[in-house]
Amino acid sequence: MIQEFAKKYNLPKFRTLQFDKAFYQNGIESFDQLSTFPADLRERLKAEVEFSTLSVEKELISAHKDTIKILMKRADGQRIEAVLMKHKDGRNTVCVSCMVGCPVNCSFCATGKMGFGGSLSAREIIDQIVYFQRQLVKSGERVSNVVFMGMGEPMLNLEQVQQAIDIITDPDKLALGSRRITISTSGYIPQFKQLVENGFRGRVAISLHAPNQELRAKLMPVAKIYPLDQLLEALDEYTALTNKRVSYEYVMIKNMNDKTEHAYELVKLFSKRLAHINLIPYNPIREVEFERSVRDQINRFRDILTRGGVEATVRVTMGDDVNAACGQLADRENKKNTDKKIRI
Ligand code: SAH
Ligand code: SF4
Repeated sequence: MIQEFAKKYNLPKFRTLQFDKAFYQNGIESFDQLSTFPADLRERLKAEVEFSTLSVEKELISAHKDTIKILMKRADGQRIEAVLMKHKDGRNTVCVSCMVGCPVNCSFCATGKMGFGGSLSAREIIDQIVYFQRQLVKSGERVSNVVFMGMGEPMLNLEQVQQAIDIITDPDKLALGSRRITISTSGYIPQFKQLVENGFRGRVAISLHAPNQELRAKLMPVAKIYPLDQLLEALDEYTALTNKRVSYEYVMIKNMNDKTEHAYELVKLFSKRLAHINLIPYNPIREVEFERSVRDQINRFRDILTRGGVEATVRVTMGDDVNAACGQLADRENKKNTDKKIRI
């Protein structure tokens, strides 16, 4: 983060290490707290390097205090959101955004409906994580996991996402093992292959949402470019290479992709694969008429998968009260001035 600054002032390596420890690990609240730096250097740093590229505009804490959702503003005024989920098993997972909105435009997604407002820099991605690191350090905790499941499609911002991953896994910076990082994609095959070629060995989540090409292409435009069979082939290669289980996200939409026959199709596709299916009750958005599947049907669907030898769980939505699906909060805020009817 301070490479340029370090180069300009010809700082020795131990200075950047001091900086990294204070900034990424100890959660300093401002450069004033960088006590290992001499005062004059600290002043120069303050004058030349931004402490954060994003400012927090709103913080929403769930009733159980296990989920904190923040709305962050970029220098240009656009908003993105990031979420901290404090799991009972001790994991502190940060869900980051990598874009403002998303150009992929899946039919059921609030982020997609916002349109595309630009890609975030690696620094902006990291600043979301460091914000929560600061909060956690106060109670002796740390960010333990990062998931790229916020706004945006990571494969369409690969270079910056890759740089962010390098900072997350750097032992001198955020120091997380690659297994603690999850990348979620709607299925951009060449970029995914590139990520793996670059050395990514973290967890992979795929937004699947349909058990066959026809329905998937109807729900997700990306499927028309990268069909399901080719996607599964690429994932099989990843599993063969890493022996890692792939997670599949499956939003349950009433009478659309939640029928019994769909569950059997999934069994056919996945019973012989190292896979986990995450059934997500659909969060209604206003631009489309879809409805959430009823609970009984979601459970029936899960049971067919499990009986067919496919590992499946229904996602427990944490922090339901702070908001529904990813993307909805920022969407509302960005549109606030033009749409007075929307409650926050
Ligand atoms: N663009 C990437 C990363 C975003 S992850 C991807 O699509 O994988 C966000 C997750 O929330 C995705 O699995 C997405 O399909 C899901 N999602 C989108 N809209 C939703 C909605 N209305 N209800 C529930 N989940 C939704
Ligand atoms: Fe983009 Fe993912 Fe939403 Fe699709 S589901 S529009 S890829 S954020």
